[in-house]
Amino acid sequence: EDEMDERENFLFKILLVGDSAVGKSNLLTRFCKNEFDSDSKSTIGVEFSTKVVHFDDKVIKAQIWDTAGQERYNAITAGYYRGAVGGLVVYDTTNHTTFERAAKWIDEVFENCKQNIFVTLVGNKIDLKDRRQVSVEEGQKLAESKQLAFIETSALDSTNVEECFTDLLKRIYDVAK
Ligand code: GDP
Ligand code: MG
Repeated sequence: EDEMDERENFLFKILLVGDSAVGKSNLLTRFCKNEFDSDSKSTIGVEFSTKVVHFDDKVIKAQIWDTAGQERYNAITAGYYRGAVGGLVVYDTTNHTTFERAAKWIDEVFENCKQNIFVTLVGNKIDLKDRRQVSVEEGQKLAESKQLAFIETSALDSTNVEECFTDLLKRIYDVAK
């Protein structure tokens, strides 16, 4: 908790979007608290969580916003997107429908944030190898077509979760510094 007292040099608002149950909240809690919750009801009641990272000698506070299930009702408000400089568009690699809908989520982010936002496409749940429905190549191809970064993750076993957030923050920092 020491870190939270440090004065930040940069404050970046980051968004999580994507279909319900793809693992957005668990990616957030894995990154911010190193916790995983197997209970899907556990969407956090707060609007965002913060995490401090360091690049060079600078203190960067990431304010990472999570939905409280509004994505289920297409009820994400403009305020959710306002001021965001980074976004993670998440799909579930074991559910092809969530991948098809990721394209819509990408468009929604760019509509609401103009082009002034860095976005990473994130294929989550790669620990469930036997249930994979979306290939790495499909994910890469979509990301390339929209000019996004791409990464696959597991919030369950932590694969690439740190990388996913810090790579996005680094890209934002590199233009903001
Ligand atoms: P959200 O609705 O997008 O916020 O998704 P949640 O984070 O609530 O996760 C939905 C369900 O998927 C929960 O039961 C989680 O435990 C599970 N889950 C999330 N991430 C992973 C993952 O990387 N691997 C596996 N196996 N399950 C996951
Ligand atoms: Mg959630």
